[in-house]
Parts: sequence; structure tokens; C-alpha cells
Amino acid sequence: MSARPASPPAAHHQGCLVCGAALEYRAAAEPVRCTLCGQEGQSPVRCGGGHFVCDECHGAPAKDVIERACLASASTDPVALATGLMRLPSLKLHGPEHHFLVPAALLAALCNARGDEAAKPRLLAEARRRADAVPGGSCGFQGACGAGVGVGIFASLATGATPLARETWGLANGATAQALTVIGALGGPRCCKRTTWLALLSGIRFAREKLGVRLDGRGPACEWSGRNAECLDAACPFHPARRAAAPPGGPGARA
Ligand SMILES: [Zn+2]
Ligand SMILES: [Zn+2]
Repeated sequence: MSARPASPPAAHHQGCLVCGAALEYRAAAEPVRCTLCGQEGQSPVRCGGGHFVCDECHGAPAKDVIERACLASASTDPVALATGLMRLPSLKLHGPEHHFLVPAALLAALCNARGDEAAKPRLLAEARRRADAVPGGSCGFQGACGAGVGVGIFASLATGATPLARETWGLANGATAQALTVIGALGGPRCCKRTTWLALLSGIRFAREKLGVRLDGRGPACEWSGRNAECLDAACPFHPARRAAAPPGGPGARA
């Protein structure tokens, strides 16, 4: 094993949870609106970019904050939405919360792109219920990465598939297969950041090709590689060195 010790969290994670900028402390509380969930309140703290994250979002268990932030978000970019949530302290470097993060971000972006906000509460609650059934470690133990299965949950809910359906049943299984093919091609070890981004890009492609809905989203430069003792380094398409070297819009940049 060439595992190296994980370095301490990047300075990014001590600043704004949304953009990484340094926090500013005002002399008195001012009206603020949580960038993640939209809750309004009063606080003397915000970042230089104007972001504020409420105490509930900051301290809530991972799946709770994923659900409330995806409900409130107006974004049509599931990669940016999910990557922002990865910066919250409740989301671990690796963990089964990513199995819900994938369908939640994709469903939120799909509903936003379709102008169908009313459908979000039901879809997100059902995606969470289904993702809860996907255990941690299923990538290596079941041969089915939970982020990849998350694309299947997204495709099933987006098309209304059931075990008795015909066309949508095929679409949902095909969506999982496509995501797992992309995830499996790179090999392990597991990294819930890498597989989440690959799954989201695969879901964006599914939305475009099978649902006729164009979502935004590009592969980001990873902010967590220095904390991951099993990072694939230059073999990962999201490694900062790779992303810096890649031409804008170059191979692997888009779904
Ligand atoms: Zn900020
Ligand atoms: Zn909030």
C-alpha cells in the first residue's frame, strides 16, 4: 500500500462553507438569509461574498441538511449544489450520505430546470427513503457503488418507474448501469467525492438524453484530495493538478 497520512483539513473548511472566503464579524447583528436553506434571521457573521449559513444547516445531520438545502435551492447545477454541501461539517469525507446526495441534487436541479418546485418535497423524501436502503461499502461488497445506485434512484423517480413498469423500468436500470460503468472504469479504492461527481455527470447525461432536460454541471477541481489517504492522485480526473492542466471544456470536463 502506498497510503500516505491524511493532511489536516484545508483552510477552506475553516472559512465560508459556501465559497471558502474568510468570515467577517460585524459589530452588531444584521438581517441575514441562509444561503443553503433560505431561513431568515439576524447574525453578525457572514463571509466576504455575503454568504451566511444558519445554525440548523451548520449542525444538522448530513441527510437532513442535504434535504433542506436541495428543497430550498434554485440551482440547475447538481454538481455545484452537491459540492457546496460536501463542505458542511456533517458530510464526512466518505459515507453513505453520498448515496442520498446524488439523487437529491439531481432531482432538485431537474425540478428547478422544469419549473416544477411543487414536486420537490415528495421526490426528495422518497429519494431519501430509497437511498437509506443502500448500505455503506456496497461499492466493494455488492459491486454497486451507492453513488451510482443514486443515479438509478434519480432516474426511477424522474420517470415514475416501478417494478411493474416497462419502458421506465428499463430507463432506470440503464441509468444505474451507465453510472456504474463510468465509476468502475477508474477502479478503486473508493472515494465518495470522485464517485459522486462521476455519478452526477452521468445523471446530467441521462437527463439530457432521456428526459430532454439540459442541466448545468462541470467536473470540479477536488478540494479533498489532500485529506484522502487513498486518493488516486493524478489518475483521478478531478485531482487539482489534472483539472489545472485540462483545457477548459476538454475531455472529461462535461457529462
Ligand atoms: Zn462565501
Ligand atoms: Zn440554513
